[in-house]
Amino acid sequence: MTAWCRFTRVKFCLLIILVFSDSLQAQLAHHSLEQRLKKLNAYSQLAALVIYNWNSPSAIDNDRIVIEIKKSQIQDDESSEGIIFRHLLATGTANEVEKPRVPIYVKSPLLKNHWEELKSLSPDLYAATRAYYTYARAMNDFDGSSQRITVTVPALRRLKREVLETGSKTATAIASIWLSMELTVANPIQAINEIEYALPHLPARSSTRTLENALNSATAHEWLRVAFTELSVPSRAYFHSKTIIEQSNLNDDSVTWAYFTSIDSLLLQSNYEDALLISDKALKFVENRNSELEVFLTLFQRLRLLMVGFRQTHDTEIQFVVKRMDAIAPINITSKTKELFYLYQSYKAIIDSSKKQFSLAIKDYEEAVQNSLTENGFKNQLLLRKERELSMLYDLIGDYKKAYEHSKAYNQLLFEKNTEQFQFSSSNFSNSIAKDIELAHYRQKEINALQEEKEGLSTDKEAMKTTIFILIVTILLILALWLWISKRQSDLLAERDSLTGALTRRAMLNSLKKSLNDNKTSCIALLDVDNFKKINDRYGHTVGDEVLTTFTQIIQNRIRKSDKLCRYGGEEFLIYFSDSDQQSAKRILDELNMTLSRQKHWRHTNEKFSVSFSSGLLNVNGETNLDTIIKACDELLYKAKRTGRARVETYAF
Ligand code: GH3
Ligand code: MG
Ligand code: MG
Repeated sequence: MTAWCRFTRVKFCLLIILVFSDSLQAQLAHHSLEQRLKKLNAYSQLAALVIYNWNSPSAIDNDRIVIEIKKSQIQDDESSEGIIFRHLLATGTANEVEKPRVPIYVKSPLLKNHWEELKSLSPDLYAATRAYYTYARAMNDFDGSSQRITVTVPALRRLKREVLETGSKTATAIASIWLSMELTVANPIQAINEIEYALPHLPARSSTRTLENALNSATAHEWLRVAFTELSVPSRAYFHSKTIIEQSNLNDDSVTWAYFTSIDSLLLQSNYEDALLISDKALKFVENRNSELEVFLTLFQRLRLLMVGFRQTHDTEIQFVVKRMDAIAPINITSKTKELFYLYQSYKAIIDSSKKQFSLAIKDYEEAVQNSLTENGFKNQLLLRKERELSMLYDLIGDYKKAYEHSKAYNQLLFEKNTEQFQFSSSNFSNSIAKDIELAHYRQKEINALQEEKEGLSTDKEAMKTTIFILIVTILLILALWLWISKRQSDLLAERDSLTGALTRRAMLNSLKKSLNDNKTSCIALLDVDNFKKINDRYGHTVGDEVLTTFTQIIQNRIRKSDKLCRYGGEEFLIYFSDSDQQSAKRILDELNMTLSRQKHWRHTNEKFSVSFSSGLLNVNGETNLDTIIKACDELLYKAKRTGRARVETYAF
């Protein structure tokens, strides 16, 4: 009962230790993974910060970014993500000559295993970093030319297929929107397809910008709005501009711009009623925002809408809007966006009916656009916008000829842009069925290779199983062999007397039972060392032992291999002479006594003496009963002792 209790207690303790160490290990692993994902997120934010603000006239200047880079300690991070993000940050400005580069040194090469590790940690971040890296590298290699898409489009297609296999929908959508960005340059239709594919799984716009959410669902809607506007599909353009606002739960300037562009696209479709409703909401939204520019921007859009769509009916409101806009310090507005300010001046000139003011404002506006063209990457967009604005303005003042000219210029620009893009697309991506067939062929090859790889893996697995099986069998065989050998050795040892090495009495009797049946003409002798007690008493037991071993040795040397010697007990021995008559056996025994008498030197004593033995010898003569034989031998031995020792007594049945 107590033993059982103790056993249960021990088991219980073991269980607790096991569970505790397991959960501890899991907790530790979980903790370090959590730490790592946190670091990844910090790097992702840092990358977005650098990419969107370095060398750009934004609110965050280079000095602030340098502080953030130092704070992140990315320069000394030797992990895969450290290497990847160093390459990412350095690549963006690697070709910069005039402006400062991001102060990051890549230190070690970016290898496949670094990407693989990031992919396993976060497929979404992998997709974003790999896409950006592909884009930035190609921008450098092609010196910013649109020819880069010959590299970026196929690479991003591969990336999309690759992340598709991770099972992450967001990662796939991220790769897809980067691909669509590059396709926009070549093929707006394919780009639209791609964005619409990505749209349901793209991350939402967030106030904390990371590399993963930099291109988000709001970006997608905005691009789609622009693309559909340019392709003259107003219904789709309207849908996307509406969605941008409806889905936005943020409170930042991006929403203000979303309102602005939505009204823009509605104005383009002459949908003034819907535009007015959105404008109401926009005004409500910016009232809670502490930004003069945003209020000015929203009021400007309101003014333009009222002027174009409701000039006759909303005159008082127009006056009211102008008053509010004038109350905002113009210096703040002009420093940020000159175009907007001069456009406003143009509308004001129309309201004031001042032709001189109007042409001055237009001149200023055109100049401002010209200046922006040199530093803005979206030249086409700016030029298109200018033609549209001018067309609307001339229309308002009733100069329909000029309005038509600018409207024509707008259409011409759009036509050229689309022609250029589609030329690009047909020359690079979708020019022949042959290419599609080739692609399908490669896909099939890829699938076959994958299949073979999979099968290869399974045969490898089989081979591994067989090897393990053989190994186990071999180990078992070796074990069995070892057991057999050691058992046999111990059996052999059990058959031998430990002091003399002669057979034990049991081994001898066992063997004799068989020999006596097979061999009818043999002799058995029982030997007893004479006066052995005296040897022990006089020279000690060690010498006694030596006498016994020497005695055995001398006998073993004289008898044949087929004969057997056994230590029957104490200083008594039994010899079995196979195929032997009494006469020759007796001769051997006598010779043994002769040999013994000459043995006078002993290792364990300096004194010289020799020993003799007495023996009872018997010709078994077909007798198989061992008891009878040994009893007879014993009697003969007793007789030999009685008749003077050192002699052999024989007897025949
Ligand atoms: P006898 O000539 O009548 O046979 O006289 P004995 O002294 O040989 O006869 P006894 O049987 O009285 O004595 C045998 C002695 O052998 C007694 C025992 O202490 C000793 N002996 C038995 N086995 C061993 C052994 O393994 N080593 C030693 N040293 N002595 C042993
Ligand atoms: Mg004895
Ligand atoms: Mg004796």
